[in-house]
Amino acid sequence: MFIADLHCDTISLLFQSGEPLLHNSAHFDLERASSAGIRLQVFALFVSPAEGSNMLRQVLKQMDYFHEQIALNPDLAYLVCRYDDLLVPGHADKIGCLLHLEGADALGGELEMLRLMHRLGLRSLGLTWNHRNTIADGVMEGDPGAGLSRLGRKMIQEMARLDMVLDLAHVGPASFYEAAEIYSGPVMVSHANTRKLCDFPRNLSDDQIKTVAQKDGIIGVTMVSDFIRNEAAGINDLLDHMVYIAETIGVRHLALGSDFDGATKLVMPGIESYNEWGSLLAGRGFSAAEQEMILSGNALRLFKTIL
Ligand SMILES: [Zn+2]
Repeated sequence: MFIADLHCDTISLLFQSGEPLLHNSAHFDLERASSAGIRLQVFALFVSPAEGSNMLRQVLKQMDYFHEQIALNPDLAYLVCRYDDLLVPGHADKIGCLLHLEGADALGGELEMLRLMHRLGLRSLGLTWNHRNTIADGVMEGDPGAGLSRLGRKMIQEMARLDMVLDLAHVGPASFYEAAEIYSGPVMVSHANTRKLCDFPRNLSDDQIKTVAQKDGIIGVTMVSDFIRNEAAGINDLLDHMVYIAETIGVRHLALGSDFDGATKLVMPGIESYNEWGSLLAGRGFSAAEQEMILSGNALRLFKTIL
């Protein structure tokens, strides 16, 4: 089974710990991901905005780490720059690795930096982490928060021109709606669940979920317990969010965005458990065709449209 996952923070974690991507003690490594059926993984680069002027340097170092680790493991992994990279015959059994930057803070609002990052392999950008930056408001600025800055609007237009994926996870509601309106392609929310079932600021309201559907976008549901119910959440509680999204906007917009290595309390121990998804979804009444859409089909449709 071809499985795609829209978000993990493994690169930032391993960059700190020095462990290799092939085999490690984190939630995700290439060996376990490969045997679990992962064929496409979006890897986030993340540096805390507290790093200030040092952010760009740190992001670039994480990017170097990512490229080095991919290069060390050509039998298991390859870089995805265009959708067609996924179709190369020799790639069929390997993990396509797509590079994402979580929060545009390091770009300093400069389009030149965005373009350079794109040349270095970046194909997806989250406008904010949790707080306000020069282009948009993060969710922790409050609901609805402020809209996009003039620079933010320019940045999104440039992303569309470069065929980059717009990730609206972490973005505050006012900026979220404005960005969805400006961006010409389908939008991605790489890791979030529903406010209806868990009223957590990082989750999406019904209006936001419907906006994603209007933009023919996708929502990657996340394993983080706090986003699901509370510390005691289990996988069935996450499946409740999935059923709710499917019933509200349709299976077409549902995908997986683990957030592995981005939090400590999750409802799966690690990527090795991803081979259970088929039976978990079947247990909640999703047909074989719907399982295929959730596990990879919907994500592939979005990447095909944009990349
Ligand atoms: Zn995140």
